[in-house]
Amino acid sequence: MNVHDSEKVIGTLRERGYLQVPTAEEAGLVLYNTCSIRDKAEQKVFNKLQNFKKGAKKGNQVFGVLGCVAQQEGEKIFDRAPHVSLVVGSASYTKFPELLVQIEQGGRRVTGLSLDTDEAFDTPYTRRDNPYRAFVTIIEGCDKNCSYCVVPFTRGPERSRTADSVIDEVRRLADLGYTEITLLGQNVNSYRDPSPKGWDFADCLEQVGLVNGIRRVRFTTSHPRDFTKSIVEAIDATPSLCNHIHLPVQSGSNRILDGMQRLYTREQYLERIGWMKAAKRPMAITTDIIVGFPGETDQDIADTLALLDEVQYDAIFNFKYSPRPNTPALVLGDQIPEEEKGRRHMQVQERQRMIQIQNNANYVGETYEVHAEFFNLATGQWVGKTTQHKTVNFSHPGGQGAQLQGQYLDVLVTRSGPVSLVGEAVGEAVGEAA
Ligand code: SAH
Ligand code: SF4
Repeated sequence: MNVHDSEKVIGTLRERGYLQVPTAEEAGLVLYNTCSIRDKAEQKVFNKLQNFKKGAKKGNQVFGVLGCVAQQEGEKIFDRAPHVSLVVGSASYTKFPELLVQIEQGGRRVTGLSLDTDEAFDTPYTRRDNPYRAFVTIIEGCDKNCSYCVVPFTRGPERSRTADSVIDEVRRLADLGYTEITLLGQNVNSYRDPSPKGWDFADCLEQVGLVNGIRRVRFTTSHPRDFTKSIVEAIDATPSLCNHIHLPVQSGSNRILDGMQRLYTREQYLERIGWMKAAKRPMAITTDIIVGFPGETDQDIADTLALLDEVQYDAIFNFKYSPRPNTPALVLGDQIPEEEKGRRHMQVQERQRMIQIQNNANYVGETYEVHAEFFNLATGQWVGKTTQHKTVNFSHPGGQGAQLQGQYLDVLVTRSGPVSLVGEAVGEAVGEAA
């Protein structure tokens, strides 16, 4: 999501005549986009800002901080880093062009920190570097209140784009040769078209999948509370919708889920997994897990490990709990020592590694369509993804010269490992070379 925000900001700047330079040292304007989801993000940002200043080749360089740390720290940034002139939170990017004018007129301490916007940041100038895979935001902000999470405070309330503007953008992208779209939102499942059409997420997903020229559609992130069976039905009905769902569970323990204010139980979560397992095409399922939430016991971790066994995830993102400013869980303190969090993190990683080794072994001997991304000089193989979002390293008789990036081709899987598959190209590549 941050990468895509940067693409929109870069597009807006280029439209106003700015040129991108390879390093911050050479720039007249340095904008630093930040994330505050975990860890001591603020500290890192201030260190980085200091380094930018030291490395500056031009005396009159202008600095700005964007994103969630900007929103969280606000005007305090000017006090701690007086060389910064612009602070814009993630919910205020719609005002970015006006704020830029103020900066160009020599403005100091220019801010965009309001959370009350009811618009999504949508611009025709988005500058995408990847020529065949595109992110498309459909909803911004989050109305949930997970007790550990800073997002509702940094990205503001939910606001959905109109269905027409989403479809127009996807059509434009298809005309430009894009074949893969990832729909983005903190909680895509609560997408609701604000126009009279009133599409819900499943409608939007299906319609995006029907746009001519689009071969693959992904989406992230789903919230189990709002995840409906109609999403699985849309995937069943529409071949271009990828058979991969990322459904963050966070914990396998009902006690911890309650403390996290996740608004579902383990049983309700598993019901949704049941819908996915009953899908027509075999669905890859991935998740996020937090270990070390305040009060988490050995039994709670055992429940999480048992959930991994039961679901047999294709991949997980596993995080150590990190107390965040303003969040409801802050009052609980950081009860689990770092060392213990590390131990639990390892336990979860190891269990999941075993599951992935077994799961990936099932792919050997089968042929899958792979969307080629780049050539890895170190291994002499191409790297791409299946619709299930599995990474495949594959050989091709043409080697690097085959110029497969952006193309789709069948690959026979010959070996598997815990995080990726290995194979060889069989048959012709389809699609335009990038
Ligand atoms: N809206 C998405 C993404 C939220 S951030 C969702 O609800 O899934 C991505 C992941 O970061 C979360 O799923 C969670 O696992 C992790 N995360 C968020 N806040 C965290 C915190 N304070 N400490 C550790 N992990 C956190
Ligand atoms: Fe954060 Fe929960 Fe919203 Fe995800 S759903 S962004 S974890 S508050």
